[in-house]
Amino acid sequence: MSEAIAVALLLLLIGDLLSTFCYHVPEHVFGRLHLRTHHSAKKNFRHYAILTFDAQVLLDGILGALPYLLVAPFLWWESAPGAIAGLLLGLFHVWWRHTTSLGWQTPPFLAGLCQVAFIITPEQHWQHHQNPYQGFGDIFTFFDRPAKAWLRCLRFVRLNLRYWRLSSGKWVGN
Ligand SMILES: [Zn+2]
Ligand SMILES: [Zn+2]
Repeated sequence: MSEAIAVALLLLLIGDLLSTFCYHVPEHVFGRLHLRTHHSAKKNFRHYAILTFDAQVLLDGILGALPYLLVAPFLWWESAPGAIAGLLLGLFHVWWRHTTSLGWQTPPFLAGLCQVAFIITPEQHWQHHQNPYQGFGDIFTFFDRPAKAWLRCLRFVRLNLRYWRLSSGKWVGN
């Protein structure tokens, strides 16, 4: 039982880490798909919670979920129930963190528990929807700060790449 819990937790931790740093943040800097779909305003719960057949929404959702799905087979050998529980909890959190769009409010006791456990509440995730430079991390709040640092690094890279392209292929950045 304790092994299954550890595996589920590990899957969520590694999945969130890889998804945030290898997809979500780079996509914010270099891509358009995530900003166009997930950050589009005035959409409904099903759109944000990826409970729709819209191809672009599904693609963004699949790319974000891919790290969790790739990690699962490695942890499966340690504990299959743990890996399944991790994936289901990750899926449940996707739905739960978008319930703000339904008008749902996290009860204070649950918000307190989440704060202690570093788990992102729907209200915290909604900040990310309103300001794409805030509230990074899928599930855990402690990925927000390093994600912002990673965002700054990648924006610096993008700026220099543009500078390099504008100077007709001749490097003039510092
Ligand atoms: Zn969202
Ligand atoms: Zn985002």
